[in-house]
Amino acid sequence: MGLKVFLNGEFVESEEAKISVFDHGVLYGDGVFEGIRAYNRSVFRPEEHLDRLYDGAGAIRLEIGMSKNELQEKICETLRLNDLDNAYIRVVVTRGEGDLGLDPRKCKKSTVFIITDRIALYPREYYINGLSIVTAKTRRNPPEALNPRIKSLNYMNNILGKIDAIDGGTEEALMLTMDGYVAECTGDNIFIVTAGRVMTPPNDVGALCGITQGAVIELARQNGFEFAYEMMKPEQLYEADECFLTGTAAEIVPVVRIDGKAVGAGKPGEVTKKLMGFFRELVETDGVRY
Ligand code: PMP
Repeated sequence: MGLKVFLNGEFVESEEAKISVFDHGVLYGDGVFEGIRAYNRSVFRPEEHLDRLYDGAGAIRLEIGMSKNELQEKICETLRLNDLDNAYIRVVVTRGEGDLGLDPRKCKKSTVFIITDRIALYPREYYINGLSIVTAKTRRNPPEALNPRIKSLNYMNNILGKIDAIDGGTEEALMLTMDGYVAECTGDNIFIVTAGRVMTPPNDVGALCGITQGAVIELARQNGFEFAYEMMKPEQLYEADECFLTGTAAEIVPVVRIDGKAVGAGKPGEVTKKLMGFFRELVETDGVRY
C-alpha cells in the first residue's frame, strides 16, 4: 500500500499527489519547505521547524493559508494515517498556480503538501569512520542576493555545490561566502572543535539557521563544552582537531578529511562522539507525540 500525502487540505495516495505545471513552485522554485524528523512516534522540535517555515514564507511574502497549529496537526495526522513510528517529513508550500510571468500576485492560493516517508538513513560507515568533504567551487549565495536563511524551493545554489562535491568524489561540499569565509555545506551546517572549543560560523555570514545546529549548540553548552560562533577560513578547518556536520537527515556526521587533508587524527573525534551520544538521547526525549 502506498503512503498517503497531505495535499491542499486532503489526503491522497502518493501516486495521485500531483500539482499543476503552472505552479510557481515548479516554474520558478517560488516557495519554501522544511525537512523534519519523527523518532519513536514523536516529531522532533516541530515548533522550531514551523517558525522557520513561516519566517521564510514571510520573507518572500507568501501567505501559507493555514495556522502553524493547523499545519502541525496535519503533519501528525499524516504520520498517524501512514502508521509511521520513525519518519522523514517534508513540508512544502509553493506560491501556487499562476501564469507564465513572475508576478506572485497572479497566484491566488498557495499549494501546501506534506510527504511523510520512511527515513533513508546515510550509510552507517559515515558515522563510524567519518566523511570526506571538499570545498565547492560554487560560492554560497550572498544574503543580499538570496538569503540562505530562507529555506526556499530554489536550491540551485546548493545543487551546484553538490555537483562540485560529486566532481570531487565526495558526498558533501563546503560552501564559502563571497569573501572566502566558511558558510555551511550544501545541505548541512558545519562545526569544528579546536583545543576543546566547539565552533560554528555565525548564521548571518550567509547560512541556514539549522535546527540541528541549534540543538547541538545547546547540548555543547549544557554539557560544559566551551562554545563560540566564529568566522572561519578553510585553513582553520584543516588545522582543527575535529570537524562534523549537522542536519535533520544527517543528524551529526564526523568529517575526517577536507580537500584531501586529514582533520585531526583522521578519525571521528572524542567531542564529536560525545555530542552524537547526547543528540541521540535528545531526539528520543524532546519531541511532540502523535
Ligand atoms: N544548511 C542547508 C543548506 C540545509 O539545506 C540544511 C537542511 N538540510 C541544513 C543546513 C541543516 O538544517 P537543519 O538542521 O534544520 O536540518
